[in-house]
Amino acid sequence: MNKPAELKLETVPVWINGKAVTPAGRTGEVFNPATGQVTRKVVFADSKLIDSAVSAAAAAFPEWRDTPPLRRARVMQKFLGLLQKNQTALAQIVTDEHGKTLPDAMGSVQRGIEVVEFACGIPQLLKGEYSQDVGTQVDTHTIRQPVGVCAGITPFNFPVMVPLWMFPMAIACGNTFILKPSEKVPSASIRMAELFKEAGLPDGVFNVVHGDKAAVDAILNHAGIHAVSFVGSTPIAKYIYETAAKNGKRVQALGGAKNHAVVLPDADLEFAADALIGAAYGSAGERCMAISAVVAVGAAGDPLVRLLEQKAKAIKVGAGTDKASEMGPLVTGQHRDKVASYIEQGEREGAKLVVDARTQQVPKDGFYLGTSLFDYVTPDMEVYKNEIFGPVLVVLRADTLEEAVALVNSNPYANGTAIFTESGGAARRFAAEIQVGMVGINVPIPVPVAFYSFGGWKSSLFGDLHVHGTESVKFYTRTKAVTTRWPHQDTPAPGFNMPTLG
Ligand code: NAD
Repeated sequence: MNKPAELKLETVPVWINGKAVTPAGRTGEVFNPATGQVTRKVVFADSKLIDSAVSAAAAAFPEWRDTPPLRRARVMQKFLGLLQKNQTALAQIVTDEHGKTLPDAMGSVQRGIEVVEFACGIPQLLKGEYSQDVGTQVDTHTIRQPVGVCAGITPFNFPVMVPLWMFPMAIACGNTFILKPSEKVPSASIRMAELFKEAGLPDGVFNVVHGDKAAVDAILNHAGIHAVSFVGSTPIAKYIYETAAKNGKRVQALGGAKNHAVVLPDADLEFAADALIGAAYGSAGERCMAISAVVAVGAAGDPLVRLLEQKAKAIKVGAGTDKASEMGPLVTGQHRDKVASYIEQGEREGAKLVVDARTQQVPKDGFYLGTSLFDYVTPDMEVYKNEIFGPVLVVLRADTLEEAVALVNSNPYANGTAIFTESGGAARRFAAEIQVGMVGINVPIPVPVAFYSFGGWKSSLFGDLHVHGTESVKFYTRTKAVTTRWPHQDTPAPGFNMPTLG
């Protein structure tokens, strides 16, 4: 009998200078989390490969920088059309490599596409300021110029959306770009590079490399890269910020989160519980804007926990491609085991385990874990202090709104937060006093739309400027102020006269 042929795994290529290439080198495995099978290999870039990506991006920069913004916007419009046409296919890649449900993946791709829509308005966004007669016969205007070669380093949890937060705006501003997506979900970025080329983007303007710390370090230490955008966990964000800044680069590094929802006793608890279930367990809790801690105020506590218990137990766990699934698997077996270890940790610490993932039926193959809910969690517990990044929700109790606000403000993370209440006064006070970058009022996941900017405070962001929206135009450009004197032939030119003295 013939031996079955060994399954040959496809290797995800890199994209350099407008071409897909598969270099030799150290490789990693890409999984389908729904089956637990390795589906592809990915080659990790070394410093030589990063050098060739930087050379391609640097060579493409002068011509792209000098391309009028209106023409850059036309390429962006074609890219927008191609992304829309391929939205389902891109979402399918997200589900295949990340595991989230297809509708969830579609929604995330949509939010990324909206950034490209915003980038189409780049001629308007790049307009500078002008002041006539800042001195006698002297005018001043400002221009925004691209920074040069920019790099983006992205996490596993939004394989399309987070890269789209970065490269369309950088490229619309006239920069060239090197993207290093998470090595766990490498394929969607390559598909986007193909689509961008099809839209008419010149070769070398957008490049994609894969890899781990070695590739990231080569980016951070490369003198030819001028700005770095990062999204990922807090320890790595801090490292990226410090290393890139030390090397003279402009840097924005978005980190992890522990997002709180405060529920006041006057809230519609049924509505709040539904919203919290989606925000805590959607995408298996692998969202930087997931609600992972609920602060139940006063009498809201017991009835809210009863509703959460009932709804968390009813969530249907299964493959992201199965229409009946409400929650897919976690991204890797290792991550699933780490998340599961927090269930024992919380029990050891004395929190009340109301819903236990270990007692739920989930598919056997694949990286599945059911939902867990803890009550009576206190701020000193590890299940509260750590970003678990999985389907584990913790409930803390507070007596008053003031106490709840103080609790949220004492947490080192400050990405997103939400309040559920019927009181406009309480909501207004919460929005003013809370020390968090993105705030929802009866909105559980307050991700700002593309024409606003996205980013947290404190340990959730290292740097000054948020991603997308007008802050990204500031990040990806440098402002130059030009002061001009054109004396008119009929008007005698004054002597040398600085505007401040004129
Ligand atoms: P991660 O920090 O492990 O990885 C992010 C990127 O950094 C990846 O490209 C990875 O290859 C690279 N990297 C990993 N270890 C590195 C190291 N030691 N040195 C240099 N580079 C390294 O994050 P993740 O697990 O892919 O994603 C989940 C995290 O991302 C969570 O903490 C989540 O909150 C965060 N996140 C934050 C936001 C936000 O907007 N603030 C959005 C999405 C995800």
